[in-house]
Amino acid sequence: MMTSATRQPPRLRGMSVTELEQLLVEAGFEKYRAVQLFQWLQRRGARSLAEMKNLPAALQRWLAENTELGGIASVATMKRSADGSYKFLFQLDDGRKIESVLMPDPIRNYWTLCVSSQVGCAVDCKFCVTGLNGFFRQLRVDEIVDQILFSRHQLLTDNPDANFRNLVYMGMGEPLLNTEAVLKSIRILTHAEGVNLSPRRVTVSTSGIVPGMIELAESNTGVCLALSLNAPSQAEREAVMPITKKYPLADVLNVCRKYQFGRHKRVTFEYVLLHGVNDQEEHAHRLRKLVRGIPCKMNLIPFNPNGALPYERPDREAVDRFSKILTDDHLTVSVRWSKALDVDGACGQLAGQFRQRRTTAPAAVAEMPPDLDFFSPTAADSDEE
Ligand code: SAH
Ligand code: SF4
Repeated sequence: MMTSATRQPPRLRGMSVTELEQLLVEAGFEKYRAVQLFQWLQRRGARSLAEMKNLPAALQRWLAENTELGGIASVATMKRSADGSYKFLFQLDDGRKIESVLMPDPIRNYWTLCVSSQVGCAVDCKFCVTGLNGFFRQLRVDEIVDQILFSRHQLLTDNPDANFRNLVYMGMGEPLLNTEAVLKSIRILTHAEGVNLSPRRVTVSTSGIVPGMIELAESNTGVCLALSLNAPSQAEREAVMPITKKYPLADVLNVCRKYQFGRHKRVTFEYVLLHGVNDQEEHAHRLRKLVRGIPCKMNLIPFNPNGALPYERPDREAVDRFSKILTDDHLTVSVRWSKALDVDGACGQLAGQFRQRRTTAPAAVAEMPPDLDFFSPTAADSDEE
């Protein structure tokens, strides 16, 4: 049992308004101070108690003595890609590291942040360097929330007019194996007194953790779901995503049929195209049949290379052929030629401190086609406003 001597002080950045109210009232302060504190932390992104000018000195003192701000400990590195993206390597309070990637959409003029939900990942997908390195620990709510607070702060420092708008849980880790913290972070980040993200611009991406998908659907947070499909059948999916043995493809797709995610009630399927493995025309035909009847969009992601992984990226023609078979069947398809590839910030390249040495050269970023429908689950929604 924890004694009061070893008890961890509450971490303010991971607390809801209700929890802050309870904390402050129990300590003898007025309840309304909790909203002020929440606004400082979340809406204004204060990095220190000293900035919180409208809080009385007695409350500031009490907070300094009895709480922590929490969040990330420091920024180990921050890199800028030729395409404008930022890749942050954050150091946590136990020395572990995680990555977040902040990407511009120069056409629609907004930014999307891709956050990590765990240190490493236990799911072991064969094409992903995060999976290759294994699982270390769950991220706490304050560590998830602070990825947003810190990167927004950096972005607005560099460009005060920037529109920080979309959030995707597509960084390191499987968000639905850390569902409690992920859901709580979503509630904090969509709170009107805080960052106030619109739920329809928040997307949780999963490898298909059935209980977590149901919990997300039933959470009433209204956020979108992206499912990493990656193969057109049970056997082929098991080969690249062993988690399919535990949560069979049929069960995963049934959740997509039965439950509703996001305002438009359309799931986004992600499909990493691996040259010679799942990118042939017959795969596309079977994929088309597999998802028929499910309201969805298909997001094709040409494999992002890492020297430690035994796969290759298909060429543009193969991607176009694959895509056409799906669009011919009236599916909405987008191709994600990932951003931040030149700083190892693309999908599946986030390795934290266990970065593998790359042995294959990155494709030239300048040659990437513009990604008009980047992270389309939320982008499409926003155009309707
Ligand atoms: N664990 C979650 C979210 C993080 S992975 C999930 O698997 O959905 C985010 C996306 O990156 C997934 O769609 C995954 O299939 C994709 N991905 C992983 N490795 C990749 C790689 N090397 N190239 C391209 N996409 C990759
Ligand atoms: Fe984990 Fe997602 Fe990578 Fe699979 S693709 S190993 S679930 S982070």
